[in-house]
Amino acid sequence: MATKHTDQDFDYDVLVVGGGPVGMLLATELRISRVRAVVLEQLTERTPHSKAFGLHARSLESLDRRGLLERFRDGARSWNNGHFAGLDAWVDFSALDSEHGYALLSEQTRTERLLEERAREVDTEIRRGHEVTAVRQDADGVEAEVTGPDGTYTLRARYAVGCDGGHSLVRRQAGIAFPGTGGRVTARLGDVILPDRENAPMGMERTERGLLFCVPLDDTYHRVSTFDFQAERETGTELTLDELTASLREIWGSDLGAHSPRWLSVFTDSARQADRYRAGRILVAGDAAHTHFPVGGQGVNLGLQDALNLGWKLAADIHGWAPEGLLDSYDQERQAPARKVLANTRAQIALMNPDPYVTPLRELFTDLMRLDQVNLHLAQMLSGVTVRYDIDGPEHRLLGDFAKDLELVAEDGTVSTLPGHLKRATGLLLDLTGHPEISQAHEKWSAGVSWAGRVRHVRATCAAEPELAGLLVRPDGYVAWAVDRNRPEASVRESLGSALATWFGTD
Ligand SMILES: Cc1cc2nc3c(=O)[nH]c(=O)nc-3n(C[C@H](O)[C@H](O)[C@H](O)COP(=O)(O)OP(=O)(O)OC[C@H]3O[C@@H](n4cnc5c(N)ncnc54)[C@H](O)[C@@H]3O)c2cc1C
Repeated sequence: MATKHTDQDFDYDVLVVGGGPVGMLLATELRISRVRAVVLEQLTERTPHSKAFGLHARSLESLDRRGLLERFRDGARSWNNGHFAGLDAWVDFSALDSEHGYALLSEQTRTERLLEERAREVDTEIRRGHEVTAVRQDADGVEAEVTGPDGTYTLRARYAVGCDGGHSLVRRQAGIAFPGTGGRVTARLGDVILPDRENAPMGMERTERGLLFCVPLDDTYHRVSTFDFQAERETGTELTLDELTASLREIWGSDLGAHSPRWLSVFTDSARQADRYRAGRILVAGDAAHTHFPVGGQGVNLGLQDALNLGWKLAADIHGWAPEGLLDSYDQERQAPARKVLANTRAQIALMNPDPYVTPLRELFTDLMRLDQVNLHLAQMLSGVTVRYDIDGPEHRLLGDFAKDLELVAEDGTVSTLPGHLKRATGLLLDLTGHPEISQAHEKWSAGVSWAGRVRHVRATCAAEPELAGLLVRPDGYVAWAVDRNRPEASVRESLGSALATWFGTD
């Protein structure tokens, strides 16, 4: 059981280092769980340049569970198809078993703005223009040195979470290793003006010398990227327009007349993952924990899921009721999804190689993608909906899976949905009146536990799940326990009590 600390000696409960999408969502999760969190972000203003373009199904499902989906959908386009390795067949997201079988076009600047607005709505303190220059920890807390507009100062907190991107200072200073593979492909990216918009290439084009990615961003700009598989580039120098246009000529045979860049960036296919996401009182999330080539548009999505997995567990620890091992389960649960994303991006890079020897493999893969089952597998993989956690408990088809959007009808006829009960990041015990033991176990358990705010108890019926008697959903939306109507009552009481204690504590 975690020690209960007093607020004395701590400026905050949690220092969130980095105010990108992951840091902002994590801070919001902490704030709605009544944790004193501050975001320390070195940039004085949000960057106007978008790396990511969109959000996938699991992110959309999760945003819905926090009541944020409508603001993300408002005015944004969505599309049903995605690409895999730039092959000629499309991945069909509409086949997903999800209310959100599509990808939402939300450029990263917009995603970051909406997440920052939400963080501010729940009174998160955000210090922009404050760079963390050092972090160190002792048994009770973490100290960070920060350089802000008025000079350097020190903050002390119970925990620090590095959401400070791929080059994470927090990760390095915590001594967390970042093993993986170095970069062999150089991507040169420019948001540029193309004089002949009508005839500009569209999407991903593979030539014998590399790949070109070209899409319109708005009525003026195009995003143009070359992926160069040939020569390693010296690190440490900024990309210039001359270098980008030379690369376009080399790979595409023409520089498309690209001019007036508003953003130039260079990156590689380096793929790395933190060997542990927690070192004592310091944790890492998002790109600080894993980086990979952006193919398939998965990085933001993966990082947002880290934040949702970590927020409530950290809050439980800070409030002193975290069961043994709860905080460590963050590392245990979130390593595997990142490993899989790194693997699928490496596979895509291999398929994108311009070597003519790879062409037959691409053709074969394209044919395979036309098989419904293969296509569905890829759609599930890219959209993150196959993530399932290894959760102990009586075997059940739903255990460890993400709880679906069930429609619930209360005794008085009121209709609600499962996502609507998770808005405050509490657990949900759904009592589908199949077993009196569910209400009783819950009442017995809660009578001895000062658990207000930890688990919401909802009695309802659910036409879509006639066999299901009860469901325990964690704040991040994953099923921690489920039971069907045909189970003996004694085993229901025991297994539910044990699941409640495992995830929500006993005092
Ligand atoms: C070209 C490109 C296209 C991409 N496309 C997609 C896509 O379509 N879909 C997708 O899901 N992902 C995509 N990604 C990946 C995605 O952009 C990242 O995964 C995402 O930005 C990670 O978010 P983050 O919050 O973890 O880190 P970042 O976005 O890197 O944010 C880290 C923040 O920490 C701050 N910071 C760093 N150090 C300090 C410090 N010492 N003190 C204070 N603040 C600090 C930084 O200023 C920054 O604001 C793409 C990436 C690239 C490069």
